[in-house]
Amino acid sequence: MLKISIIVPVYNEAENILPLFYEIKKYCPENFELIWIDDGSNDETLSEIQQLSFHEERVKCISLSRNFGHQNAMIAGLNYASGEIIITMDGDLQHPPVLIPTLIEELYKGADIVFTKSVFTQKEIWSKRLLNKIFYGFANFFSETKIDENITEYRAFNQKVLDSVLQFKENETFLRGIFNWIGFKSATVEFKCAERKHGSTKYSLKETLANELNKIILFNPSLIKFISIIIGFSLVITLFNVPLWNIYSANKNDSNYLQTTLILLVSVVQLFLTGMIFKLVNTAINDNRNRPLYLVKDMINF
Ligand code: UDP
Ligand code: MG
Repeated sequence: MLKISIIVPVYNEAENILPLFYEIKKYCPENFELIWIDDGSNDETLSEIQQLSFHEERVKCISLSRNFGHQNAMIAGLNYASGEIIITMDGDLQHPPVLIPTLIEELYKGADIVFTKSVFTQKEIWSKRLLNKIFYGFANFFSETKIDENITEYRAFNQKVLDSVLQFKENETFLRGIFNWIGFKSATVEFKCAERKHGSTKYSLKETLANELNKIILFNPSLIKFISIIIGFSLVITLFNVPLWNIYSANKNDSNYLQTTLILLVSVVQLFLTGMIFKLVNTAINDNRNRPLYLVKDMINF
């Protein structure tokens, strides 16, 4: 039977460790390793995992030296996975382990990667959902790699996919984009995203906004085209608004207000674009520095 590596990044999820482990044990075939990545938690998360790992050799842990963020923690886990099948999921029970047999079955049927898609539930935070809709709609419009905003971080894949994903050495990794970009034969399984079992989301609205903006800017091959169009458009508005106003306005002397508004609008657009370019340059500098994505403090049961 194939070995399964389950990778779960956790940041302050102490109350979720045991319940998630028992759920996984219930639904996962015997031959598995559960790799927790403790992403610099400052609650009892690590000691919960340590206690569990005393009795269960299949429970492993990579403890990071500080909080490196969900994506980097996930990459740490991917680097140490030894199974033929790899499953990534969140540690708050929003990704139900009951789905594991279905995911594995899809792999056996021939898929290289099985995505999961969360179906809308009433209880979800509407603001996050709306933000997702706006950002992904915007990003997809300009990008060749279309990303479904409902595809989650809960996925199963084989070693071919793992090896491909590990070849990416990006400073600000966007795994959902990468898994989408690499190709391979895929299948998608739908599920109802459960509510968080304990604790609260680790991302505020502000962080979600910043994250989404980063994704659009960094994971978008057509960004330069987009920037050029906007710059061209701003130039046209700036150049032609005075002559057009003079031709079409009934009151030719009252053009100040409109002109000021348009000039302000153009300035705002340009400031936004300057910000985007600054972000791109900053990322290029960081990629060039080639700093480690995470640092390991301790390893348990490896
Ligand atoms: N997480 C992490 N590092 C962080 C933030 C979150 O490892 O800096 C983990 C978190 O413990 C959870 C998963 O990433 O297992 C998803 O986070 P969360 O549930 O807060 O995100 P949401 O579901 O609200 O988007
Ligand atoms: Mg969650």
